[in-house]
Amino acid sequence: MDLECIFCKIANGEIPKKRIYENDNFFSIPDSNPKVNGHSLVISKKHFETILDIPNSLCSELLDCIKKTAMKLMEENNVKGFNVINNNFEVAGQVVKHVHFHVIPRRKNDGKIKFCEIEI
Ligand code: AMP
Ligand code: ZN
Repeated sequence: MDLECIFCKIANGEIPKKRIYENDNFFSIPDSNPKVNGHSLVISKKHFETILDIPNSLCSELLDCIKKTAMKLMEENNVKGFNVINNNFEVAGQVVKHVHFHVIPRRKNDGKIKFCEIEI
């Protein structure tokens, strides 16, 4: 745990946030600056900086959290698709240095969404 890390503070409840879904090692919350309605983040409960630091043994829990979050978002937002985006290191656009996965519901004709230098 990094005492200065915003996602550690959310993970340990110091900053309260309503969780969309959680399991033992991951949870999801709405992004505070959403690119589209329903834009959410899957975050590790432990402080790992990037995807490279997540032990392989946690991969099925990570996938579980991404899938359950995406299914809930699709149902709640009545959409039929989504993107999953993960930025690693500053040069790739990572601002919060605690690993997280953006889950972005997509609608027909919602235009291009700009993520760092990538348009999706
Ligand atoms: P990244 O550029 O991949 O590091 O994205 C960081 C994301 O975290 C951005 O989409 C921010 O809007 C989001 N974010 C930052 N602080 C918070 C917070 N306190 N609660 C929810 N989302 C946050
Ligand atoms: Zn952290």
